Amino acid sequence: MNIASRLEKLKNETGKNVTLVAVSKTKPANVVLQAYEAGQRIFGENKVQELCDKYEQLPKDIEWHLIGHLQTNKVKYVAPFVALIHAVDSMKLLKEINKEAAKNNRVQECLLQVFIATEETKFGLDFSEAEFLLASKELTDMPNIRIRGLMGMATFTDDEEQVRREFRSLKIFFDKMKTTASQDFNILSMGMSGDYKIAIEEGSSMIRVGSSIFGERQA
Ligand SMILES: *Cc1c(COP(=O)(O)O)cnc(C)c1O
Repeated sequence: MNIASRLEKLKNETGKNVTLVAVSKTKPANVVLQAYEAGQRIFGENKVQELCDKYEQLPKDIEWHLIGHLQTNKVKYVAPFVALIHAVDSMKLLKEINKEAAKNNRVQECLLQVFIATEETKFGLDFSEAEFLLASKELTDMPNIRIRGLMGMATFTDDEEQVRREFRSLKIFFDKMKTTASQDFNILSMGMSGDYKIAIEEGSSMIRVGSSIFGERQA
């Protein structure tokens, strides 16, 4: 199957209410362009340098999402153009994003990354940290930040019930935060190639899919 038909298949499976972020990390610009030509406009990258390179090389109507961990000292490189930052995991990072967004006269849309997996390597806030941050006056005082929702990654495991439980816990937390948040707190980014079906069943509104579109990545 080629990229266009894989995208078509994914769209049919996910329906209209779920936004597809095509994760193009490690794939060269000409391959990304094949997905673009098939109609895909939202792409996700996990590294700042690669994101900036592809932004330069590819059509300007692409909506670029940064899905990976972001270091404070690299915010300035993505601040002029990035549509959504998925993995905000500290107040320090938010402050820097607010500052750089202001310099660019932008309001930067962000998701808070919440830790739901059992692995120790995954970044993110725990539920109480995320709740604290969302309620903080410091956040209210950042005019150039708009928190659109939450992002989470399930444990990398064959145990589907565990994955389901983790996604479900994030959805419950998301709904709880939604009751006090602003109206545009409405994005729940969860689900990758291996688990997007479960994620959608558990209430995901945005999936980040790479290998199911572009094929396996080289290690
Ligand atoms: C790589 C990556 C994905 C996509 O992974 P696939 O398994 O290839 O779909 C999704 N989210 C994040 C944060 C990633 O780094």
